[in-house]
Amino acid sequence: MKFLQNFKLIKDEINNYSKKTNLIVVTKNQDFSKINYLINDGHKDFGENRMQETRQKWEVFLKNNSKVNLHFIGKLQSNKIKEIGNLFNFIHSLDNIKNAELLAAEEIRSLKKIKYFIQVNLAKEPQKSGIKEEDLGNFIYLCKKNNLNIIGLMCIPPLMGDPTLLFKRLKNLAEHYSLSELSMGMSNDYVKAIQNGATYVRVGSAIFNEN
Ligand SMILES: *Cc1c(COP(=O)(O)O)cnc(C)c1O
Repeated sequence: MKFLQNFKLIKDEINNYSKKTNLIVVTKNQDFSKINYLINDGHKDFGENRMQETRQKWEVFLKNNSKVNLHFIGKLQSNKIKEIGNLFNFIHSLDNIKNAELLAAEEIRSLKKIKYFIQVNLAKEPQKSGIKEEDLGNFIYLCKKNNLNIIGLMCIPPLMGDPTLLFKRLKNLAEHYSLSELSMGMSNDYVKAIQNGATYVRVGSAIFNEN
């Protein structure tokens, strides 16, 4: 199966660049039958971006298995917070205080702690999620005041152009705020992201595309 081959090649490649970088296999739009092969191969970190799809694919499996880490990489919606808290161990897209407060309340209710990345909109693209760089310090302060476990920063660079400078900027920001994790790098740029300090890369199509 091509995707298993791709997965193993990419996993080895990442390992060769850096032992500190974790591969999140982005399984949006993929059937659970494929995901199961990766789980049986020992893989633990998976990314999804839509709640309904996540529930349909993962809910039954997660009831009986705790070895998998689900990473939420989509846009947070305030009416789905409870469910997100239920299914996911990591959230990569925290970017507003209202959702941060809702998540904090949900953690208290459920006694479950989530690990958070704050998404930063480095290129100030109007259509993209993420907090502005100049608002980051205050936002981190408010999240910590709400007892959220902020572990790092996340970015999605513009489609066009070399992302290297943005990766470097995200790393500098994380260091400035004493955050140790960096979620950056997708199918097209994960090598550059690792070279610039990514500790989590989020890879989908490079694994699952058949051509
Ligand atoms: C879909 C998605 C990915 C994976 O993208 P590929 O280019 O398919 O590797 C990574 N991060 C986010 C936020 C995504 O939505």
